[in-house]
Amino acid sequence: MNYRHAFHAGNFADVVKHALLCRLIEYLKHKDKPFRVMDTHAGRGRYDLAADEALRTGEHEAGIAALRASAVWEDALLAPYRSAVEAAETAFGPTAYPGSPWIARHLLRRQDRLSAYELHPVDAKALAAEFAGDVQVKTIALDGWLALGAHLPPKERRGLVLIDPPFEEAGEFERIAARVGEAWRRWPGGTYAIWYPIKRQAQHEAFHEALAEGGMRNVVAADFFREPFSADERLVGTGFAVVNPPFTFAAEAEAVMRALLPVLGVPDRANCGIVALVGE
Ligand code: SAM
Repeated sequence: MNYRHAFHAGNFADVVKHALLCRLIEYLKHKDKPFRVMDTHAGRGRYDLAADEALRTGEHEAGIAALRASAVWEDALLAPYRSAVEAAETAFGPTAYPGSPWIARHLLRRQDRLSAYELHPVDAKALAAEFAGDVQVKTIALDGWLALGAHLPPKERRGLVLIDPPFEEAGEFERIAARVGEAWRRWPGGTYAIWYPIKRQAQHEAFHEALAEGGMRNVVAADFFREPFSADERLVGTGFAVVNPPFTFAAEAEAVMRALLPVLGVPDRANCGIVALVGE
């Protein structure tokens, strides 16, 4: 386990992922019935953009820092994301940046719960400390892939599973498509959001195809390209596939990504799109 999210927190991919995650959570709040958010690869919960790791890459400069400096920060569809980021800053200082479990927790109502899984011992400890004493949050130092099998469905039988692995092992794309398919068969009523890096065109197309052919219904992919595919393997974009999205998601995701394009994308080269991989 070499991946540490502290090097990448608040980068363009984090911003797009977190802004779209907020749209999914907000939709769940349309009904009073409780829901559960399960974050299978949670990270440490909160990051300091002035910490050594973040300063070494400086990735947040072209991510959350650029967004905060732009008028797009006030976009209405970003309101829940903005609220989470600003709450973290208010609580922990201007260089704080919330990770996915912190954002989810910020958006929960009293009746909702969060289960956050993290396997790296250092980050799992930080995650547990972040939410110590919070009765609405359970942090679990466990393999998130096991949780997808053993801990589904949650007792609320309503909610969202965020799957945000580090993609450090070969075959990770194939594994995700297979695991999400199994999870969906265990709990077909859940919403599943899968983050993925966009680097190579062939790999990207193969992943879309694997999700499309996994036997699931109602799958869309929101793809944000900072720049077009290149000959090398650099991260050119960020993807967010959703199984069982709310009916509002495609239009909202498109609007959010279009708003972010001029801020996070390479001028005249950035693009985004929503792909319906499987119909309802
Ligand atoms: N979801 C976080 C966010 O948006 O703030 C970022 C997560 S980061 C991309 C992936 C995390 O998964 C890392 O913290 C890594 O240590 C953790 N991880 C790697 N393998 C894991 C596994 N099998 N189960 C749970 N966590 C794992």
